[in-house]
Amino acid sequence: MHALDGQTHADTRPTAVIATGGTISMLADPASGVRRPVLTGAALADGLTGLSAPLTHLQPYAIASEDATFAHWLTLVQEIVRLTPGHHGVVVMHGTDTMEEAAYFISECVPRAAVALCGAMRPPGRPGYDGGQNLMDAVTVARDPLARTLGTVVVMNHEVLPAWDVVKRDSVALSSFATRHGTRIGTVHDRQLRLLSRPLELNWIGQIPTEAPDPDAVAYVRMTGSPGPTRFAEAIRGAAGIVVDALGAGSIPAAVRSDLIGAAGRVPVVLTTRTGSGPVQAEESYPHAWDDLISAGVLLEKRLDGPRARIRLSLSLSLGRPYTPLEPL
Ligand code: GLU
Repeated sequence: MHALDGQTHADTRPTAVIATGGTISMLADPASGVRRPVLTGAALADGLTGLSAPLTHLQPYAIASEDATFAHWLTLVQEIVRLTPGHHGVVVMHGTDTMEEAAYFISECVPRAAVALCGAMRPPGRPGYDGGQNLMDAVTVARDPLARTLGTVVVMNHEVLPAWDVVKRDSVALSSFATRHGTRIGTVHDRQLRLLSRPLELNWIGQIPTEAPDPDAVAYVRMTGSPGPTRFAEAIRGAAGIVVDALGAGSIPAAVRSDLIGAAGRVPVVLTTRTGSGPVQAEESYPHAWDDLISAGVLLEKRLDGPRARIRLSLSLSLGRPYTPLEPL
């Protein structure tokens, strides 16, 4: 039997709930109407009938997640390391705009911790507020005996989605969260996790930097048709690493190609695709099409999107490690 809300499982340790702000906690100021992230995790949990699991609450900061930095996410990692031994899983309440990046950062640093992130697409008090249900579902997942084998997941709208692949794909829909490659791990309904697939074992970094990576270290550029060569050169100048969301399976326009090849001689350059799914890989359709890039040392990232490759490269640089594409073990 799965641990349902802490009632049927022998592990009576509490689950830690780390609140960080985001729509899930944004109450309207009575005077101005402006919403601010002031609802605490404890207040939200107290108002939920059916959430009877023992919980420990903490709130290291309360922000809208567009203001989250590597330093915020490193704080979460440090709290997770501190809390894990005495707790039955960790839940992180996070703004949805950068939730997938927070989940990925955590997963890279502590891949074996049982962490479930949740948030809300509708704010408290609005019809369809989804924060309470998502918190309840995240607690259910974090307390499940299987949670440790899942690593870091995002739990939104009853879906359990892996940190390496989950994306916010719609700016407003309740069903916004999905995966790029269809890697849904499971669903959660009525306080039961239903596992649908096993998460991949991946070559995570598995190391925690002592200081937050420098957010300016990596230049991240999304390629377009008719790119401006001068702008491109400016965007990558001085970077310690470069991530380019290439066109299609890895196309780089001639207008910027020699600049990118030149940069690859000096710093790590990683290519991702801007298409939203699929690998950077030319061999089947266009044999040898990227040979000049590859022989210059450009790395082809087949699984991650650009923002996640930027996190992996930023962490790698701060830890003094070479970038290796994310691969199954
Ligand atoms: N932009 C805010 C944030 O990401 C609100 C969006 C949300 O949480 O859904 O924190």
